[in-house]
Order: sequence, then structure tokens, then C-alpha cells
Amino acid sequence: MTPPGGARATPARVADAGRRAGREAPPVTFALHGVGVSGGIAIGRAHLVSHAILEVAHYTVESDKVPGEIARFETAVAEVQREIEALHGAMRGEDLPGEFGAFLDVHWMILNDPTLSDTPRRIIAEQRCNAEWAITQQMNVLVEQFDEIEDTYLRERRHDVVQVVERVLKRLMGKPGSLPPASAEEQTILVAHDLSPADVIQFKSHRYGAFLTDLGGVTSHTAIVARSLNVPAVVATHNARSLIRDGELLIVDGDHNVVIVNPDKAILAEYRLKQSELDLERQKLKRLRLKPAETIDGVRAELYANIELPDDLEAAVEAGANGVGLFRSEFLFLNRPGLPGEDEQFEAYRRVAEGMDGKPVVIRTFDLGADKTKEGLDGLARVAPNPALGLRAVRFCLAEPRLFQTQLRAILRASHYGKVRILIPMLASASEIDQSLAAIALARETLREQGIPFDPNVPVGGMIEIPAAVLAIGAFLARLDFLSIGTNDLIQYTLAVDRADEAVSHLYDPLHPAVIKLIASAIVAARKTRVPIAVCGEMAGDVRLTRLLLGMGLTEFSMHPTHIPAVKQRVLTTDVENLRPIVARMRRTDDPARVAVLLDRINA
Ligand code: PEP
Ligand code: MG
Repeated sequence: MTPPGGARATPARVADAGRRAGREAPPVTFALHGVGVSGGIAIGRAHLVSHAILEVAHYTVESDKVPGEIARFETAVAEVQREIEALHGAMRGEDLPGEFGAFLDVHWMILNDPTLSDTPRRIIAEQRCNAEWAITQQMNVLVEQFDEIEDTYLRERRHDVVQVVERVLKRLMGKPGSLPPASAEEQTILVAHDLSPADVIQFKSHRYGAFLTDLGGVTSHTAIVARSLNVPAVVATHNARSLIRDGELLIVDGDHNVVIVNPDKAILAEYRLKQSELDLERQKLKRLRLKPAETIDGVRAELYANIELPDDLEAAVEAGANGVGLFRSEFLFLNRPGLPGEDEQFEAYRRVAEGMDGKPVVIRTFDLGADKTKEGLDGLARVAPNPALGLRAVRFCLAEPRLFQTQLRAILRASHYGKVRILIPMLASASEIDQSLAAIALARETLREQGIPFDPNVPVGGMIEIPAAVLAIGAFLARLDFLSIGTNDLIQYTLAVDRADEAVSHLYDPLHPAVIKLIASAIVAARKTRVPIAVCGEMAGDVRLTRLLLGMGLTEFSMHPTHIPAVKQRVLTTDVENLRPIVARMRRTDDPARVAVLLDRINA
């Protein structure tokens, strides 16, 4: 079905603008287009996410900086007080509805309530935390109190509490944490201007129906985590946050990159039908869970799961994964005060190692930096001119040897409880490999000296994410036990396209002839030297590309667990021998149109 309204739904927007200007009209149906980063259909009510609140960071303030932090808080509150007073003043003589004044009075009262204006000072002093965090905590306390009020009008004042705190946060220039509770009766669809990977990871503990953002790229970490939530998501909608109103009914179709706002009955019925068909399809695929992924001509593929947190293990096991091919351990770092110590990390890794019950678990060392930042880490605190090219991943770990040792010791300790492998991200040169191997040797040594058990043969692998790594792959093959191609970054660095920037997302192309050549060449080189090689970027979970990768000789795929059943089905219906000549032609051509034709042929 073609959604009504067209790409930008101009007439609808005009009508909507009229509505916004105060002329009440019946809800207008319109469509917004973006980039679907997680498939499926969700139907639910919009919840506009407050940008400032989402971004509230939590960090510790040194004791001698506490008075300064309290002063910062007081200044921000005083500024907002003046802001409200000024608005009141400006209203006089204006022909504005009386409610406007009452609304400002309510905001004034809320701001001056000791819960917001006084208690945060004590919290900052006692907990030595930043002002933004202190006031957000108090906002949550107040919102909870309002939530319990019977009277509907008074209960709705909780929105005013949030708005007041937002004003203060903006003054504090804080970059912001907490999310709205998901409704039990109806699905809630989050609509945000932008979300960081850290924001999205919080969704795991909530149950949202879908989410939409104005910004974002297909393989941004935000999109990747969104996929792991297993709910439809559409990013790069440009202006969903400003066009959609709180509480509006939405249909999010992640497979067709579209959002329908205020659908009429006929559209709603059609999408409900599609939704149940999709559910049925998913149920059917689930039956493949225990079936080995073997092609028609007997090539066995291993389908591993990508996970972000130990809690994702359940989904991996349920999908029938052959192990964990990528544990993005840096997510243990996000959304929490301070850093996880060795014991805490060890417990997380051990849980995954034991949970996979003897199947391999590839733990990637922290890939912090770029779009995954963390307050309180010196090397990441500054704003790098080009974060994706800056102190990221292994570069950051090598620059922070203590942090790296803590993690390596924790991973090695976990290796005593399962089949653990260490994977180093974003390697570009032999010297980085050597330094990483030396750091691992040191961690082994200290554990040995302390008599702490670990597996002395833990394989160490490297990610192939930078074109230089493919072009000089000999250095990798000679030093490492296995390789894993991170196609998300490999594409980003090959095409010089920021994977998180929606303005260039149309240039981000997994099928660019240069990308195909690089991936194929890495696979061929690894196979020649019998070094195991996997693909763990998003390409591995894209069924349109399964046959292409099989035809290149790939047998190890690591992807989000939800993609495993569909990829398995594709493997089961593939004859690799038949594909090879076509894939060879795809490798040779520099013509994107030819790539597209040949891809259609192998998928036919
Ligand atoms: C990749 O770059 O393909 C990859 C798997 O790592 P990440 O997406 O976490 O950067
Ligand atoms: Mg990567």
C-alpha cells in the first residue's frame, strides 16, 4: 500500500500548521519518510522525548568543586526565574489567553518548590554529583508524586514539572538520562530529535513499541542498538519531532521507511492485518532454531549473535545462535556513574561465557569514542575535531593502559568459565596489534602471579574495519588467531561517510564496488592462510547480502539475534557453487549498476 500524503505531505503539513496555530481541526493524516533501521510494524501513541532530559549525564564532582557546582545550579535556577518573570512582563498588554498567565504561574510555583530549588543543592553536596543530575533526580521524584494523583488535571501537571526542569537544564547547558514510563495499555512510540546509543540502551529496560528520530544513519550505533530492541525504528525523518504532537496515533513501518500520523480507519485496518501476517512469518522462522545453517551443497555456516549487554544473551540463545560473535563490551560503560571495576566486568563476562554453555563468546575490548562517549574519561572528555578518526577503540585503550589492563584481566578471568575469545577493534597497524598483544601478555602474567585461573589459550583476534587493515592484511594474519570484518566502519572509512550523519546517509553504500572488493579480498586472504574470518557488521544480518558473502567464501556471520532465523533460511536455500562465478564478476566490476544487476541475479 502506498501511504497517503507522499514524501513530505505538504498539504497535510499546511493543515497541521494551521492546527498548531490554534485553529482546531480534526487530526490530519500525513506520512513522513525516513530510513528504517529496524523492521516491523508498530501502532501506538507518540511520546515526544525531551532532548535535554535524555542527555543528562552523571559525573562526580571533586570535593573542592562542589561549592562551584552548587553556585552553577543556583545561577541556572535564578536565570529561569527571571525568564518566567520576563515572560509575565511581556504578556501585559498583549492579547493573550488568560491560561497563558496561569501556566506561567504554575511554572513559577514548580520552580520555587523546595524539591527543585533547594534539595538539589543538598544532593550535589552529599553525592558530589553534577547539578544536572541532581535536578533530574528531583524531577523524577516530583513526577512520580504527580503520577499518583487521582485528579486528571493535577496529574497532567507532571508535564509542567518536566518542562520547568528542561528550562533549567538548558541553562546549565547540560547534556543529558531518564525516559518516560511506557504505557501498559497502549504502545508508546518515542519521537526524538536525536538519540545517543546510551539513550537507546536505556530502552532495553522499558517496553516501547517503536521509535523515530529526526537524525541518524543506518549503521550508527543508535540504529544498531535500536535493532537489538527488536522494535521498528525509523531514523532520519528530518522533522518528526516538530510535526508530531504528543499522544497522536502513529503507524511505524520500519520495513518501508515510513511513519503514518493519525491514520484513518481503513489504513489502520490494513496495517493491523500486515502486522499479524508479519507475526505469523516470524513464528514460522522460529521453527528453524535448532536446524544447522547448511547450504544445499553442504557448506556449513556458523551464525553468531551480536550483543551489547549480558541481558541480550536470552535473545541470542532463543534465536539458536552458534555463540556470541561480538559482545560490544563498551556498553557496560554507558549510562552509569563511574566505571565498572575488574570484578564487575568479570561477572558480566562470566555470565555471558557460562550462558553460552561452551559455545564461543567473542568479547570485543572497549570501542569507546566517536559516537559512544563517556563522561569522566579524560581522553574522551574533550571534543575531538573528528571523533571517528580520533582517540577511539584500541587507540583509546592503548592510551589508557590501566583501564585496558582492568578489562583484559576481567576477560581472561572469565575465560575460565567458557569459550572466550578477545577481539581488538579498529586496528590499523602492526604496531597496534603488537602493543595489544603485549598488554594481553601482561594481564596473563599478573593473573598467573596471583594464581588466578584463566584459559592460557584464549584466541586473540582483530577487527578489520579500516581499509589499511585489508590492504596490509598480512601483518594481521601473521599475528592474530582470527579476524572479524566490521563492515559498518569499513564502509565508513572506505567511503569517507560518517555512519552517524543522516546528511550523508545516502552515500553510505555497502554495495559500493570498492567495499565489495575490500571485503572479498580480506576473506580470500584469510582463507588462504586458514585464519578464521567472520563478518560482524550489519551486512552480516542483511538477507539481501547473505548469498554475496557466502559466494565470497564467508562461513562465519555475526548479527543481531533477530536476524538469525531469516539469514538461516537464506543459507538453507543457497547453492554456493552456483553463486561463485557471479560473485567473482561482482568482485571485478567497478560499475555500481552491474553490481545491482548481479545481486538481483544471485537473490533470484
Ligand atoms: C562494525 O564496525 O562493523 C562493527 C561491528 O563494530 P561497531 O558497529 O560496534 O563499530
Ligand atoms: Mg566498528
